[in-house]
Amino acid sequence: MTRMYKCVHCNNYTLDDARCPKCGEAVKDPKPPKYSPADKYGEYRRRAKRKVRSAALL
Ligand SMILES: [Zn+2]
Repeated sequence: MTRMYKCVHCNNYTLDDARCPKCGEAVKDPKPPKYSPADKYGEYRRRAKRKVRSAALL
């Protein structure tokens, strides 16, 4: 799979994993914005807990 890297200096996208061909600055792997799995599981946990609690009250 081809990886794209992004220059930290000029935001140029490049396939070079070491240096930006445009300005020679370092590049980094631009991570796609990910939705937070922690919050998602937290919501599941809270929901499960609530369900258990209401079941216990019955
Ligand atoms: Zn650059």
